[in-house]
Amino acid sequence: MNTFNELGLAKPLLTALAQEGHEKPTPIQAEAIPLLLAGHDLLGIAQTGSGKTAAFTLPLLHRLFETPRKAKLLSPRALILTPTRELAGQVKDRAAAYGALTGLRAGLVIGGAPINQQKLMIRRGIDILVATPGRLEDLVNQGAVSLNAIEYFVLDEVDQMLDMGFIHAIRSITLKLPKDRQSLFFSATMPREMERLANALLRAPVHIEMKRQAPPKIEQSVMFITKPEKIGALVKIAGGGAFKSGLVFSRTKHGADKIMNSLNGAGLSAQAIHGDRSQGQRERALKAFKSGDVRILVATDIAARGIDIHGVSHVINFDLPNVPETYVHRIGRTARAGAAGSAISFCSPEERAELRAIERLTGDCFGGRATEKVGSLADQKAPRRAQRKRSGARRPKAAAAIHRELEKSMADLSFMRPAT
Ligand code: AMP
Repeated sequence: MNTFNELGLAKPLLTALAQEGHEKPTPIQAEAIPLLLAGHDLLGIAQTGSGKTAAFTLPLLHRLFETPRKAKLLSPRALILTPTRELAGQVKDRAAAYGALTGLRAGLVIGGAPINQQKLMIRRGIDILVATPGRLEDLVNQGAVSLNAIEYFVLDEVDQMLDMGFIHAIRSITLKLPKDRQSLFFSATMPREMERLANALLRAPVHIEMKRQAPPKIEQSVMFITKPEKIGALVKIAGGGAFKSGLVFSRTKHGADKIMNSLNGAGLSAQAIHGDRSQGQRERALKAFKSGDVRILVATDIAARGIDIHGVSHVINFDLPNVPETYVHRIGRTARAGAAGSAISFCSPEERAELRAIERLTGDCFGGRATEKVGSLADQKAPRRAQRKRSGARRPKAAAAIHRELEKSMADLSFMRPAT
């Protein structure tokens, strides 16, 4: 399928797509859109960056547009749930852009924003509601929104929703949805709990699995340094010529603020996003980073996942993640759209177990390659073998091993359908 036209989408959507500069469907769009237009439930395994938002919003907009209905009071026709406020904002913006010429209205309901304005917006009438679970539950409980006219239900980034403990909110929300609806799940991975949820909420879903796209050119490296040395190393990297813009991951919210302050103190423009920042602060930080006004965004994992940011030259793991899969999600923020990118991980002696877990997952030893490249901290001058011994890392494999592993997990599209 080479054009959106061939997918049979309504004219106002085709015009909006052309205005957005989307010339042809991405693989997940080409596969998912016809299935969704035909009314199937769907379970899609896909990453941010694959074009999955359009894959679920376009058919939804098409079907709402083709079957106009007089708005019922307080009752949207489509509900899209996402785990984070940032992602919800992004999805709502996409829905509004693709649906700009349809007359359909999309609304956003998220925590950290004034609830009364959201109530007013719902009263005025919206067709598509994009929400985070907590605030939606509040509004439902207050009778400010009704879910009994929902025809389309989308759960985006389901694995992250489960990680964030939204299972009860999801259960309570779905109990209020009409049985007769089309439901779609999108997730980067397929944890057990999600399978159970899918069995309970989806009707004979079609499975689409989109492994990661072509292997990105990410140069991965690790620096073995002590905790107190990390800030100095970060300032040095961020001040270097190769550094255009970077996402710095901190394990804690407090840590993220400290890193941001240190960077700003060193004359490097940085902002932070994490759960303790107000919605306005998070939005402003993200906007400033996307526009290039701020070169460094310091983030916790929860705040950063699912966000679509282009042109990040560096991902710095200031702290190694506890969960090794998170490492793969983090480094996937650089080298997007075929550009080259660099992922540098700081590993203090206390973090050796985390490093080993990442190596086990990716089959990659980083090779100690970046230690010479990124600075001259005393610790890095030690011979590599001594560093490895101290760090507990295994002998480096060829750099190709990293790419082989990434290629394996990011192989070309493979679509699976359940036997019917
Ligand atoms: P997503 O995976 O939904 O977060 O989308 C990632 C990015 O791809 C977004 O910036 C979209 O605007 C963009 N995008 C989605 N579909 C297309 C397409 N068919 N052609 C070009 N860009 C697209």
